[in-house]
Amino acid sequence: MDYYSSYITKLIEEFSRLPGIGSKNAQRLAFHVLNMPKEQVKHLADAIVSAKENVHYCSCCCTLTDKDICPICASEKRDHSTIMVVETSRDLAAYERTNQYDGVYHVLQGAIDPMKGVGVADIRLKELVKRLESDEVKEVIVATNLGVEGDATALYLRNLIKPLGVKVSRIASGVPVGGDLEYIDEVTLLRALNGRVEQ
Ligand code: ZN
Repeated sequence: MDYYSSYITKLIEEFSRLPGIGSKNAQRLAFHVLNMPKEQVKHLADAIVSAKENVHYCSCCCTLTDKDICPICASEKRDHSTIMVVETSRDLAAYERTNQYDGVYHVLQGAIDPMKGVGVADIRLKELVKRLESDEVKEVIVATNLGVEGDATALYLRNLIKPLGVKVSRIASGVPVGGDLEYIDEVTLLRALNGRVEQ
């Protein structure tokens, strides 16, 4: 039954599609938006549309960027012989905040998860393999999350990369199992990075 205007119902529906937003929160957000000044609503809508229109994957490391090549891949100050493989751009940001890692990244944009139907072809692996064809790469640090999917992805990467003669290492424990990297403090991240183990 439509308790409200169909416009409101539609807005609630759209909010409830977002991750972590249940129907109660969706209603709260919808009514909040309706109470906002029109200008502010327009800014919000414009920000969503222009982020979607302008942000895409870096043509080298697959992180989200509004450039063809992201600033990290384009930087001459970074060590391009070491690639850290992470699941998301948020994980990349977590390592960047430590200010201690000077290599480059590769962002898989996911992890292998057979239960959710995410296979090898659904993450940015092809792009990584292409980068490894260059002689420049000496080490790949696998920093996927320490959980079932991240570990499965790490094992797959090890079997894929090792035969190519490139050193493969996995970040050490210390990062809680199942913990999303983006929520972990910098000291723990650095400990995991420095204690990485060759696979
Ligand atoms: Zn990049």
